[in-house]
Parts: sequence; structure tokens; C-alpha cells
Amino acid sequence: MSFLVKHRLSKIFQPLNMPAKSSKITSKSLKLMLDLGFIQNSVPGCFNFLPLGIKSLQKLTKIIDEEMSNIGGQKMLFPSLINTKLWNDSGRLEEAGPELFKLQDRHQKSYILSPTHEEVATEMLSTLSPLSYREFPLKFYQISTKFRDEIKPRFGLMRGREFIMKDMYTFDIDLNSAKKTYEEVCESYENIFKTIGMDFVKVLGNSGLMGGHLSHEYQFKSSIGEDNLLHCESCDYYVNAELCEDRSKCPQCGDSNKIKVHSGIEVGHTFLLGEKYSKLLNTKYISMNQESKVLQMGSYGLGISRMLAACLEVLSTDSDMRWPNSIAPYNIIILPAKEGSKEETLTKGVPEKVYSFLEERIPDLRDNILLDDRTGLTIGRRLLEAKRVGYPFIVVINKRTSEDSSLVELFHTKTKQTMYLTYEALLDYIKQNVH
Ligand SMILES: [Zn+2]
Repeated sequence: MSFLVKHRLSKIFQPLNMPAKSSKITSKSLKLMLDLGFIQNSVPGCFNFLPLGIKSLQKLTKIIDEEMSNIGGQKMLFPSLINTKLWNDSGRLEEAGPELFKLQDRHQKSYILSPTHEEVATEMLSTLSPLSYREFPLKFYQISTKFRDEIKPRFGLMRGREFIMKDMYTFDIDLNSAKKTYEEVCESYENIFKTIGMDFVKVLGNSGLMGGHLSHEYQFKSSIGEDNLLHCESCDYYVNAELCEDRSKCPQCGDSNKIKVHSGIEVGHTFLLGEKYSKLLNTKYISMNQESKVLQMGSYGLGISRMLAACLEVLSTDSDMRWPNSIAPYNIIILPAKEGSKEETLTKGVPEKVYSFLEERIPDLRDNILLDDRTGLTIGRRLLEAKRVGYPFIVVINKRTSEDSSLVELFHTKTKQTMYLTYEALLDYIKQNVH
């Protein structure tokens, strides 16, 4: 009987412990992702994503797509090249200054490489004849590459010059419904972090370059974070310290005794923009009374490549990657006995059987199980590597299985427990601990 094994480690390009080419190692996540073959340095602030890195990135993207679709988000894709004139009209060309990548085509027309698409999304609607109020709210989003000419790119994927973002632009007919949409997207962001399995804080944010009425930041607390967050433990209020003139007193309840300062990595940002862009670009709709009125807008960002690194930064040790189960490149890795050993002969076919058994019985695990078929290497060596990559469940087919074919060894990475389980017990254990 033969079993189909789709994912074999020997077929995955994963250069290990390659010496870093140029850039300095400025964060734990960067070091781990380079050492363990998830990404590679390219030009400064840009990285080659290798197969395991892409696997995790795709899982993260899928979670975000599902949640965006739950709130009626319509997926689109805007070009990375933006007419410079559009940014000149909105006033941001000057404000953003040297952070913009600028280029010219062969006809000497100027473009910028997009850091964000508020103007483009707004212009798209303003070039149509005004839509009826019945069409709104509209929620467009995309997942694409963004560009920022950072003066000092650092921390790997956390502050790069080219990065992957989910950005959403919403349009409503009045400020009240725009606020409702804003709350809805904020709630959806919270669902995303919960599904991923990361602790986060929602912080009153700085509107910065965007302008508008209200903004919030979503932050992962981490010592490497570049944002300072004030937390009032008295009323559980978080605010970006940049917004506080007086950092000794809570802006919400006035208590001055329980203020703590934390560092955070910003992974998401929401803006209730109001008319800022729609007025400038004359983006209107036709109201119930046939009047032409300016649309109210919101803009929402999630740094996807940044979040991937931020999860690792928060959870990993200096030597070993640790993932939330939801975005580990594979949830389970199976290690067969070493080639040519007595155990190999006695457990022939068992690794493939376990693979198929788990995949069949837990449909969620389809494409999430990996067979480490590099059996020329010892089990010890492969086990060490599997622990460093942080696969949540490591199944070892070794001596014990060769003595009793009904038992396999399981190492649970999170609890560091090793146990010997029957197939059914293995199934139950993984089911209970995989989410
Ligand atoms: Zn307070």
C-alpha cells in the first residue's frame, strides 16, 4: 500500500546558516529568518522571500483575506506606479519628501512607487459619474508591495524599504456611517490578531501624514519596538506617547499613579479620514434628495511582512523560532529513522502512513504536514533543526516504533514535552492543541 506524501523537506529550498551577505543583524527575528532559510538579503531594506517564508506569509494572508471578506471587503489591486501629480494635488508630495521613491518613464512622465493608495482609491471614484447613496458603504482592500525610502532600514522585515501590506479604503455617505464602518474594521482587526493568536494592544494613535478625525494603532509589546506607549493601569487606557505633552498623568482619567511606559511594534493602523482626500479630489455621491455630496473616507493598514517578523520577535528565543500555530510554515513535521539503520527496516512505510492518517483525519492540516525525508542525516540532527524552526508538533519514528509499531514519539514544541502515543492518541492530542 502506498501513501501520497505531498510535502517533503528534501524538495524545499532552505539554505541553512548561510553567512549574512552584508546587512547588520539588528533584530532576533532577522537573525533567525536568515539563519533558518526563510529570507535572504537583497538590496538594503529588501529581502528575497524563500519557500518557508512564503508559506508562513500565505497563511497570514489567508487569515486576513477571510476576515476582510467577513465585513464585506472587496479585494482589488492598484498599480505600484502612481502619477506624481496626484500626490502633488493632495499635498503629500512635499510632506512625504525624501521617503518617496520617484522615477520617470521614457516620456519623462514622473511617478512615485506607492507607499499607500488613498489618492488612487479616491480618484477612482471621482472619475466615475457620482454613484447613488444606495451603493455605500464601499470597502475596497488590496494586499500588495509598498515602498518607502527609509533613511536607515533596519530590523529586517520590520523596517524595510519594500514591504507587503494590506490596505483598505472605505467610503460612506456621512460621518456617522463612516464612524460605524471604522468601528467595524477595528473589530475585524481585533479578530485577526485573535485568530493569529497574538496579544496586542489598541492605542490611540497619531494621525501623522494622513490627517483626519481619529486614528488607532495596533501594537505588539516588544522591547525592540520603536513606539512608546503610555498605559494607564487605572483605567486601562493606551495612548501613543507622542500625543502626550504631559507623560505623568493619564489623559483619560487623570490618575498619575499608575502610568507605565511600554515599547511596541506597530502592526496595524486605522484612520477615520473624513473628507480630507475626497474633498480635495472632488469625490462625491448623489444623496436621497438628488444632491451631490462629498464622501467620507476611512483608511486602514496592516503590515503583513512586518507582522510576520513581529510575531517571531515576540515569541522566539535567541536560538529558536517560535510561531503562533496559525502561521507556522507547517504544523507537523515527521522524522523517519536514519537511512540504513535497523529501525529504518523495521518501520518501513510507517512515516508515510502517519502522514496520510493525520491529513485524512484532520482536514485543517492539509498542506500543513511535512516529511523530513533527509534520512541521510541522523534523527538527532534533524530533531534539533526542527526544534529551531519551531514546528509546533514533531513526530519521530524511532526505536520505540520499531519495537511496537502502534506507538510514535511526539515532541510538543510549546510545552517541550516528549510523549509516546498511539495513532488515535496522537490525533486527539494534536486536535486539542493545534489552535
Ligand atoms: Zn487612566
